[in-house]
Amino acid sequence: MDKMDKIAIFPGSFDPYTKGHHDIVSRGLTIFDRIIIAIGHNSQKKRYFDIDRMEQNIRLAFEGEERVSIIVYNRLTAGLAREYDARYLLRGLRNTTDFEYENSISQVNKYLNQELETVFLITSPQFAAISSSIIREVHKYGGDITDFLPYPLD
Ligand code: ADP
Repeated sequence: MDKMDKIAIFPGSFDPYTKGHHDIVSRGLTIFDRIIIAIGHNSQKKRYFDIDRMEQNIRLAFEGEERVSIIVYNRLTAGLAREYDARYLLRGLRNTTDFEYENSISQVNKYLNQELETVFLITSPQFAAISSSIIREVHKYGGDITDFLPYPLD
C-alpha cells in the first residue's frame, strides 16, 4: 500500500448487499485506489441475512479485485476511517429521502473527523429502485431475489 493511496470506506448494513451497492463500489474504483466495504454490526439490531455469510458473498462478488476489502465493524465510522487511513467515505444517493439522511450523517462524520470527506455517487437508473428493505420483504414472502444480487444466493 502506498502512503498516497486514496482509500475510501463504503459503510452500510448491506442486509443484503445488492447490485445497487455493487454499482457504487465498482464506479468508486475509478475514483479511489482502494475501497473498504465495512459492514456495520449492531448487536442491538437483528439482521435478516447472516452477517458472516454476507461478508463471504461480497468477497465472492469481488473475487480477483485486490483493491477491495471487506470488514465487519461495530464502532463509529469516523474512528474506523482514521484507523484505516481512509480520508473518504463513499455513499450512494437514490432520492431525496437518501439525501436528507445522508446530509445529516455526513455533517456528523465531518464533526467527528475533520479529515474525512463523504463522496456521493448518484445511483445508476437501472438500480435506482433497488433497496435492501424491499429485497428482504420479497425474500420473506418467497419471491426470487437473485436478479437483485451480484452473487448467487446459497
Ligand atoms: P445504511 O443502513 O448505512 O443506510 P445500506 O446498506 O442501506 O446502509 O446502504 C449503504 C449505502 O448504499 C447508502 O449510502 C445507500 O444510500 C446506498 N444505496 C443503497 N441502495 C442503493 C442503490 N440501489 N443505488 C445506489 N446507492 C444505494
